[in-house]
Formats: sequence, structure tokens, C-alpha cells
Amino acid sequence: MPESLTPVKRRRPGSHPAAKGRETELGRTRRARRINRTLAAAFPDAHAELDFTNPLELLVATVLSAQTTDARVNQVTPELFARYTTAEAYATAEQADVEEIIRSAGFYRSKAKNLIGLGQKLVAEYGGEVPEKLEDLVTLPGVGRKTAHVVRGNAFGMPGLTVDTHFQRLVGRLMLTEETDPVKIEHAIAELIQRSEWTMFSHRIIFHGRRVCHARKPACGACPIAFDCPSFGAGPTEPGEAAALVTGEEREHILEMVEG
Ligand code: SF4
Repeated sequence: MPESLTPVKRRRPGSHPAAKGRETELGRTRRARRINRTLAAAFPDAHAELDFTNPLELLVATVLSAQTTDARVNQVTPELFARYTTAEAYATAEQADVEEIIRSAGFYRSKAKNLIGLGQKLVAEYGGEVPEKLEDLVTLPGVGRKTAHVVRGNAFGMPGLTVDTHFQRLVGRLMLTEETDPVKIEHAIAELIQRSEWTMFSHRIIFHGRRVCHARKPACGACPIAFDCPSFGAGPTEPGEAAALVTGEEREHILEMVEG
């Protein structure tokens, strides 16, 4: 077994101190950082799953990713990026042309409107460039705090926590915070995880949510962070049944990691 693969220890379902309300602040911080390290070993290639080559492309792709999957966005962006290469190009685009290209990404009318409005605002207020500041990014059409953090973290290398639905579900199951509002979750997790790790922690948690800790049936019995999860037992704990639920390219690596 490679050196980074530590056999996974398990507890009885419901026996984690956090599940019993007996975890200290320090204990929670240490556990959060241990989870981050274990997920780093589980998903060494965790990254933004949207395809892009510059900040404008990432901004556009992230706006398109609302209410759909990254895979679907990646299907429409090659044509879109080839046709519209600058903010000016989006600013002067015909709504019907943009709609035609992005139709399969869903909500294509409002998304096309947002992309054109976004191009116009970038041209009018930011010299056609994507701004780096959070407070500027969130003023752009279709851009919320989550999108702004994705762009800052992945196109500009500025640490940011991306609180999407996977992230919200995971930090809730892991009992890292009791907050339910995305902005409050962001601030709570920022207290636990080192700033330099924020972007990668987000990617790892989201990777884990997509491949192992599924919304309806989490693969608890094949989960590399089971020991640190107070919700162990929310899904099947029997290793064979759980292993069948694990998806993604990292599947074999993860199963090897948990077999110990
Ligand atoms: S898969 Fe199960 S053990 Fe792993 S993080 Fe999700 S709920 Fe916890």
C-alpha cells in the first residue's frame, strides 16, 4: 500500500463525540483539518470540474452551471468560448444566438440574458476585464457569492470557500457547523480550516460529495473519513454494499485506501 494510504478506522454508528454533543472547539478544528488531509490523500487530483482557460471563461461557465451539472456545461462551452472570446463579444451578442448554443444547459433564456448583461457590465465598468474583488464580482448579473469564490479561487488563486449544495450537505453531516445559511457556513468553516487550504478544501469536499457521500445513499462503509464522521451509518456500512456506491475515477484508489 502506498505510504499516504492509512487504513481507515471506524467507530460504531452514533458513537462519535460530536454526535453526542461532546466535542470541544479545539477537537472540531483538529477533526476538520484531519478530514482535509484524508480527503487530500483520497482525491489528490481534486479541482474545479468546469473547463476553462482564463477568468472570463470560468466566470461564464460558472454562471451557466446554476441548476445543472458541470459535465453538461462542459458540453456547451467549447462552441460558446470559440464564438465569444472577449467581454465585448458577449456585450454585443444576439440573445437568440447565445440561447441556441447554451440551450441544453437549462434556463437558457435567463442565462443568455445574464451573459450579455455580464459582458456589458465588464465593458462599461471594468475595462472588459474580470474584476478580482469579491464585492465587484457579486455585482455582475448571475454572479453570487459562490460563483465569485469559484472565480477568485480558481482563476486568480485567491483562497475561497465554495458553499454549494454538496458542501452544505457534507459539512452538515460532518457536524462541522450547525449553520444552514451559506454565508454563515462559509464563515464557520473559515474558522476551522487554514486560509491557504480554503479552495482545495472546497474541491475535496465537493469531490467527496459527488463520489462517496451521496445525498440519498452515502457510501459510509467505503468512506475514507468514516472515523471522523459523526453521521457514519447514514448510508450502508457493510463494505461490499458501500463499495458498489462509490463512483468516479478515484474509485479503486479509495477502495484500496479503506480496505486497510
Ligand atoms: S459517506 Fe457516511 S461516513 Fe462518509 S462522510 Fe458521508 S455520512 Fe459520513
